[in-house]
Amino acid sequence: LLTATGAFLYVTQTQNSPPEQLPVDTKKPTLVVLGSGWGATSFLKSLDTEEFNVVVISPRNYFLFTPLLPSVTVGTLEPRSIIQPTRYITRHKKRKVDVYEAEAQEVDPIKKTVTFQDLSDVRGAAGSVTIPYDYLVYAVGCENQTFGIKGVNEHACFLKELSDADKIRTKLLDCIETASFRDQPQDEVDRLMHMVVVGGGPTGVEYAGELHDFLIDDLKKWYPEVADRLRITLIEALPNVLPAFSKQLIQYTESTFAENKIDVLTRTMVKDVKEAAVVVQDANKQIREIPYGLLVWATGNTSRQITRDLMSKLSSVQTQRRGLLVDDYLNLLGAEGVYAVGDCTATSYAPTAQVASQQGIYLAGIFQKLGQKAKFERQLSELRATAAAPEEIEATVKKLNRAAKLTPFHYSHQGSLAYIGSEKAIADLPLFNGNVASGGGAAMLFWRSAYVSTLYSVRNRTLVLADWLKVKIFGR
Ligand code: NAD
Repeated sequence: LLTATGAFLYVTQTQNSPPEQLPVDTKKPTLVVLGSGWGATSFLKSLDTEEFNVVVISPRNYFLFTPLLPSVTVGTLEPRSIIQPTRYITRHKKRKVDVYEAEAQEVDPIKKTVTFQDLSDVRGAAGSVTIPYDYLVYAVGCENQTFGIKGVNEHACFLKELSDADKIRTKLLDCIETASFRDQPQDEVDRLMHMVVVGGGPTGVEYAGELHDFLIDDLKKWYPEVADRLRITLIEALPNVLPAFSKQLIQYTESTFAENKIDVLTRTMVKDVKEAAVVVQDANKQIREIPYGLLVWATGNTSRQITRDLMSKLSSVQTQRRGLLVDDYLNLLGAEGVYAVGDCTATSYAPTAQVASQQGIYLAGIFQKLGQKAKFERQLSELRATAAAPEEIEATVKKLNRAAKLTPFHYSHQGSLAYIGSEKAIADLPLFNGNVASGGGAAMLFWRSAYVSTLYSVRNRTLVLADWLKVKIFGR
């Protein structure tokens, strides 16, 4: 056992030690990558940096494994277990990569520049900087959709960033502690113990499921005096939750939620958000108020300001409000040298991690070809200058032509998974030329193994498995 452990540690250690890197070469074309989410990270992981001077700019200097974020809100997983520093990826690259923790504020597709700003509030924080690019990989994702509903930004919690999960965790416990406080009026206890989730997409459903587990596994032990008062309500404007899943899995989810006493209010739309109540309109057009302690807002995504600005600069071709339009090779329409991937784009695919990740890998292949093309062009001009043999020149021309040949992006859907609570998951898998829908314990096992294997590093896998084990033994 000791030998095996030693060998494992040795392998991970050697994998982790940074190799000798080529220095930054400003004579190479500058490739700026905006973002550190699914699209940008899968791109960076697969990118060969030798032929480029790569600069990464993102407001957070780590990759967040978003599918497991709901588990952080109730303490099933620790925040550190599902993040991977961007420098962990870039420090293993052939050529050194510059990483800036900063927010991109403007892209000028005519001058080919990016302006970004260090947002940290420490003394000496850099201001706004503008740099030129030859190529730009635009992978800034989206922001939370609020549909302009009043009060959402002030009173609701989102579930997108690590800081959101932390905020939900703190607010949830504050509600429970305050409800347990002596001499609380009964209707206040009921309000504080009412957790409302708006949006019946995968984010809202998974969060409601995690919250239920927390109630069953831990709340009853730790707060027996108020545990029975906890209520979870999921509000969805459409006739059912999870519209992207099969009918069978929608029914399975709704019946699991019914068993778990999660109230699902479908055909109900939130119209207004007050400090302690949401105003909803139900199927009969009746308006009423629902008091809440914690409100989690999960109604999907919308474009960021920087993306809207970029669209308006390219308004003759960027006509889709939903996101940026790209061609079959992920080239941004109307902007030479700019590629866009992930949720900031408007394609025929759903804005999911799976799509962004496959686009990132595909784009790294395009850049591999661009790098090869530059190399062969250099070789060719040297061969011509030295009057090399015609066969040698012809062979290099062939290589150059091969490098210039690109195949369009093709998405391969591997299926959709969602955790729905009480050790049950749902899986919609495109197998045997049809869709296989599965729900329950087996799907849960599949959910666990699929997510663990998708985690980017051995470190993350170990931490997530250890967290799950820890919760099984000691609780949250
Ligand atoms: P979503 O867009 O999938 O769902 C949002 C839901 O909110 C919609 O069903 C909408 O009808 C509802 N809604 C909007 N406004 C409302 C209102 N005022 N009142 C009540 N309901 C309202 O959003 P999401 O769950 O954040 O997912 C975003 C994207 O990420 C989707 O493409 C999704 O497939 C993907 N995703 C996938 C997974 C997974 O596969 N496990 C997990 C998370 C996110």
